[in-house]
Amino acid sequence: MIIKQTTEQASNSTQPLMIPSIDVLLDVQPKPKVQFTLHGHYQHLVHAAIETLRFYAPRDSSYWGCFSGGKDSCVIKHLAKLAGVAVNWHYAITTLDPPEQTAFIKRYHPDVQRDKPHKTFLEWMQTKGVPTRRIRWCCDKLKESCSPDGCRLLMGIRAQESPRRAKTWQTLTQLHGRRTGEVVSPILHWHADDVWRFIKQHQLPYCKLYDQGYTRTGCVLCPMAGPDGHARDLKRYPSMCRQIEKAAKSFWNRRKSQGAIGRSYSAFANADEFWQWWISDGPIPGKPHHCQGQLEFWS
Ligand code: SF4
Repeated sequence: MIIKQTTEQASNSTQPLMIPSIDVLLDVQPKPKVQFTLHGHYQHLVHAAIETLRFYAPRDSSYWGCFSGGKDSCVIKHLAKLAGVAVNWHYAITTLDPPEQTAFIKRYHPDVQRDKPHKTFLEWMQTKGVPTRRIRWCCDKLKESCSPDGCRLLMGIRAQESPRRAKTWQTLTQLHGRRTGEVVSPILHWHADDVWRFIKQHQLPYCKLYDQGYTRTGCVLCPMAGPDGHARDLKRYPSMCRQIEKAAKSFWNRRKSQGAIGRSYSAFANADEFWQWWISDGPIPGKPHHCQGQLEFWS
C-alpha cells in the first residue's frame, strides 16, 4: 500500500485539538450528544476521535471498517457507534488467524463480515516466501486487498506502534499507486493506555489472548511479534507452526534447486538454518549490522 500524507486534522499528544464543529461544516443533522465524565488529555482524545469519525464520514455511503478483532479495532468500532456514523465492518481472514481471535469475533461481533482470501497464507508462501518485518507482503495480499478501490477505510492505526507509522500516517491518509482511496485513523494519537482505559470505561469485550501474555493480536508467527512472540506461538499453536515451517522450507529448497536463491537467502547453508534464523529474528550470517534481524534481510 502506497500512501501519501494529507493535512493533519487531529491533535497530537501535546497540541490543542483543532477539529472543527462538524455539524456546522457539513450542514448535517446534529448527532446525539455523547455523555462522558472525563478529564484532561484522554477526554480530548475521545472527543477528537468522535469528531474525526463524523467529519470524514462518507456523505452517500458508509465507511469500510477494517476490523481485526484486536483491542484497537474494538475501540474504533465502539467510537463509530458513539459517533453515529455508518460503517460496514469487515474482517479479512488470513488463514493463519489465532483460533481465539476468530472465536472472539464470532461471539461478540457477529455483525462483522468475514472476507475469505482467494489464496491462503500458505499458498502465497509458495511464491512469496516468508514475510519479514521489512517486507510484509501478507498485509497487502491478505488484508489490504479485500476492500474495493476508492472507498474510505476506517482503521485503528496508532502511531505509538512503530516509528514508521508515526512518520507515515495521518488522521486522513490518501492511498496512491496500485490502490486508491483514503484511510481514516481516528485513534492515531492514542497510546495503549488510552485504548485500555476506553475498553474498561465502556466495558467492551476483548480477545482473551490479551489476558494470556499477548500485547497484540495478529497471525500465528507474525513477523511483527518478534522472537518472544514466535516462541510463544510455537508452543501454543504447534500444528499451525509446523505447516508454516514446512511451507518456508519448501520455498527455500525450491529456490535453491532452481538456482534462483537470492543474495539474502543464500546466506544460509540449508532450509533448517534459514528457518531457525526467521524464527529467532537474529543476525543474518555475513551481514554487518547484527542487531536488526529480519530488517536486514532485503538490505
Ligand atoms: S498480522 Fe502479521 S502475519 Fe498477519 S498479515 Fe499482518 S503482518 Fe502479516
